[in-house]
Amino acid sequence: MNGCSLAQRLDGRTALVTGSTSGIGRAIAIAFAAEGAHVAVSGRDDARGAATVAAIREAGGRADFVRADLGASADAARALAGEGTRALGGRVDVLVNNAGIFPSAPTAEVDQATFDSVIATNVRGPFFLVAALAPSMAERGSGVIINIGSWISTIGLSSGALYGASKGTLEALTRGWAAEFGRSGVRINAIAPGVTLTDGTAHLQDHTRAMVDATPAGRFGTPEDVAAAAVYLASDDASFMHGSTLLIDGGALTTRA
Ligand code: NAP
Repeated sequence: MNGCSLAQRLDGRTALVTGSTSGIGRAIAIAFAAEGAHVAVSGRDDARGAATVAAIREAGGRADFVRADLGASADAARALAGEGTRALGGRVDVLVNNAGIFPSAPTAEVDQATFDSVIATNVRGPFFLVAALAPSMAERGSGVIINIGSWISTIGLSSGALYGASKGTLEALTRGWAAEFGRSGVRINAIAPGVTLTDGTAHLQDHTRAMVDATPAGRFGTPEDVAAAAVYLASDDASFMHGSTLLIDGGALTTRA
């Protein structure tokens, strides 16, 4: 991997990927490392974190695990920014705000604990990570932040109002942060994945199969589909991209059969 003679798009960069013990985040961490980045893998689960790091190292890449519970507090996000920076040798070039939870329930059945944990994990964690890391990126005059939104921020789904609102907020923050930090050389964009098969969504497969079958792609998304978009946004190929949300959904939102 790192011995490859082909140019690697993230050679010499460092990247902190939240929620990279599983699913989309894991695929992004592996794809970034394959492109030459030193990756800080993060999540709450030590065993799955170690497994992601081992997979990257076995392929010849560089990775370290930094444990964090982003649902806990703003301080937990600040601590991850500090520990991630140390693990990466003093600098985070790319931050991916991927960690997220997506409980689905009718509004009248959402209790306060669920409401607070969705907003804490999907919005507060990214907010304080950006607050901790974007200013130093701006001082250096370069950096990339990628927020993982969702197709569900654009359309209403019954039983998905709270989750959709959390992802819509993250996509709105993406535009605000692009305005705030973009002129200092920090590129901030989002990716809105469609239905993507991961550990977290395996139970939704039967429920969404008919909708997915009717899309132009005609299949579920894979974590690697989303990771390919993240590599693009992290790389200099996307140097003209600021404040955008890339829809990677197989055409689910933009077409009808
Ligand atoms: P997943 O397989 O359930 O993985 C979620 C990741 O987030 C795990 O690595 C988990 O790590 C981490 N995480 C959850 N709560 C955390 C917390 N409190 N602190 C730190 N890390 C936490 O989910 P996925 O399907 O890959 O989804 C990844 C992202 O894509 C989410 O933001 C999701 O909303 C978004 N998305 C997914 C889909 C889809 O269809 N899969 C579609 C649109 C958007 P630990 O368990 O180790 O803590």
